Amino acid sequence: MAGTKSGDFKELISPFLRAKIAEAEETWGQDSPQLRALVRQYVKDPLENLVRPIERRRHYESEVTIEYEGRPVIGVERLYRRTILIEPTTVCAAHCRWCLRGQYPVQTMTRDDITHAARYAGSEALRADIHEVLITGGDPLMSLPLLRYTLEQLQEHAPNVRIVRIGSRVPFQDPDRINDAMLEMFAGFRPGFRFEIGVNVNHPIEFWPETVAAIERLQAIGVRFYNQHPLLKGVNDDLETLIEHYGLLRDYDIEAHYLFHAIPMRGMSHHRTSVDRGLELATALSSCGEFSGRAKPRYAVLSDIGKIVLYHDSIVERRPAEQSLLLRSGFNYDDRMKWNPSWKKPESVVVLNDGSMLTWYLDGTDETVEELAAAHAS
Ligand code: SF4
Repeated sequence: MAGTKSGDFKELISPFLRAKIAEAEETWGQDSPQLRALVRQYVKDPLENLVRPIERRRHYESEVTIEYEGRPVIGVERLYRRTILIEPTTVCAAHCRWCLRGQYPVQTMTRDDITHAARYAGSEALRADIHEVLITGGDPLMSLPLLRYTLEQLQEHAPNVRIVRIGSRVPFQDPDRINDAMLEMFAGFRPGFRFEIGVNVNHPIEFWPETVAAIERLQAIGVRFYNQHPLLKGVNDDLETLIEHYGLLRDYDIEAHYLFHAIPMRGMSHHRTSVDRGLELATALSSCGEFSGRAKPRYAVLSDIGKIVLYHDSIVERRPAEQSLLLRSGFNYDDRMKWNPSWKKPESVVVLNDGSMLTWYLDGTDETVEELAAAHAS
């Protein structure tokens, strides 16, 4: 499960991925970037124990803790006007070591919770604004009955929802799950819903033939794909890899959405570059002529108040001693309270007179993984 009761995010690698890791070792060798790209994503690293006091368990709080129809709404998050997020399951085919859900408590929605969340999404107060639902977790494609039930409930109780986004790495971790039953299920909800699957693919090696075939089967019935993924130290933090990666996304008709700075959570420092290194790479990527501009991502951080796309004036102040950056966002405090009245302003947030919000953000470093490991060992 992506989620933990004890704080220990256990290693979980699907049989498919185990076979691909063995294949990468045999084909490219032990010291190859291809093998490293998989190992660093899935194999538990002792550097996860390197926890600094400034690091936190969660990167933001956006849960809706309000009551609807006399009971609390469970498993729903909302930061933005048009979208709410529902998390029916916390199960995944494999555990990505860089995942923000790794430190989140395990939470499973009952069928009753799902029906209630769908009724909330279709309630009079939300109906005019909410057109889009992001179903995430965990990996919603791990439980077809639960996903079908969630879609049925949305169809019945929230006809205002037209776009259903699903966050999934199943095509890259266990592609055999994209079977006839799954295709029939998606086809059965068309054309009422427009389906978009958001994957988190990080390196060109992950486009295995089985993965590409699974994606193409879903695309053939009208499901769209997009990618948002973190910049990971030792996996994809070099221009050559990113250029190849975005070229492949274009080839396979996967829209490039966000390139994220790896999130500031405890035990993650060995995955995190500096924000400046990410800006340097994103700028080079965006201005190079290597592939179509249709495949170029936005570079963003997942801050305490949501995603902030970085531009030349986004960094307002730097505090090197605290490894912190003050970032300008486009979010407004009054809007946030209107859309999620239970939202609590984090301590890192500064609200300006016009209601716009700035937020402090914990930067990464430019130390290599080997330098970090050496420092950790000494
Ligand atoms: S990125 Fe997705 S598949 Fe990976 S651990 Fe997180 S929720 Fe699970």
